[in-house]
Amino acid sequence: FTVLGIESSCDDTGAAVVRSDGTILGEALASQSHIHAPWGGVVPGLAKEAHEAEIDRIVQEALEAAGMTSAADVDAIGVTVGPGLEICLRVGATKARALAVEHEKPFVGVHHLEAHILMARLPYDSASKQLGFPFLALLVSGGHCQLLKCTGIGNMTVLGGTFDDSLGEAYDKTARLLGLPVGGGGGPVVERLAREGDPTAIPLSVPLQSRKDLDFSYSGLKSNVRRVAERLAKEGGVETPANLPHPIKANLAASFQHVAIQHVEQRLRRAMILLEEEEEEGIRSLALVGGVAANQVLRTRIEGLCKQRSWDLWIPPPRLCTDQGTMSAWAAIERIRVQSTDDPTIPDVYARYPFAQPFS
Ligand code: ATP
Ligand code: FE
Repeated sequence: FTVLGIESSCDDTGAAVVRSDGTILGEALASQSHIHAPWGGVVPGLAKEAHEAEIDRIVQEALEAAGMTSAADVDAIGVTVGPGLEICLRVGATKARALAVEHEKPFVGVHHLEAHILMARLPYDSASKQLGFPFLALLVSGGHCQLLKCTGIGNMTVLGGTFDDSLGEAYDKTARLLGLPVGGGGGPVVERLAREGDPTAIPLSVPLQSRKDLDFSYSGLKSNVRRVAERLAKEGGVETPANLPHPIKANLAASFQHVAIQHVEQRLRRAMILLEEEEEEGIRSLALVGGVAANQVLRTRIEGLCKQRSWDLWIPPPRLCTDQGTMSAWAAIERIRVQSTDDPTIPDVYARYPFAQPFS
């Protein structure tokens, strides 16, 4: 069967048609980065307007890319219903529900974080095997930084989360501090700049080193980077860190990234050891998911850690780590497979959507 998936939880309007075997038949995505860039972050009202302006075109483009003419040609419809920006979620959800009712199609209200996680289970080529439950997930995105034990569809337990900022936010704030363009998220620009810098040039402290749990904290590292950058600016006789010479900014970006990832490695290693000790579960698979999983340095370092501990690692291709329509379609496919669909006439979206909340 085929599913039309729609995503509008933040600043990307995405749609895709995916077949139940994981084949992506058609995709369309409208990024709003140029709209939010001048504001230094996503402006919800502008995001909603942009979703409204693009949603019909994006859905039609995805259908046409799949060789279809309308939503009548798919077998089911899925859409992100939370968590995310409420007024943005509503745009995609309203469109998807209207299509489901009009064409009398099964409907799935998708949990955005579960959708990020399930992207690690999408069969990327028919020859390779699929990640099976149970597994450990490291979700690093714009709004979340979590370690989860995933035992089934709709069955994900948070083992650790962040006390303050997410890893994606830490990247975004570092980008802003250094005066880099942050329209589509600061991560890619910080990663690019970091390639030209020395990751050991500026000593920064790794967060929560003495805590024996699985939680994260990035606000301390953020302040640490800011303090150092402001001192360097003062010493260099420039007004703000954004005016620092390029090589120093590159060193700051590289050093930030190095320590931010060290924090991830330390928490992840703990989680792996804990799960290895739970003999009956025997979890030895990790899914690295969410927007920051597009980061090449993070991917390589987590790969090293997994090799060291003999774990299997599953990471979606970079373009499928950040928000897009395929994730909604695939999560809906997974839900339909376990006979879990929703009533399209219930108009709710969920700005907050804890994993504990059972699906209807
Ligand atoms: P959530 O999924 O938690 O609701 P979101 O949907 O806004 O949040 P995603 O789209 O999953 O977040 O990810 C966006 C985040 O990923 C941004 O913070 C962005 O800076 C970060 N990101 C994207 N690419 C990279 C990269 N190459 N390196 C580091 N961070 C990146
Ligand atoms: Fe996301």
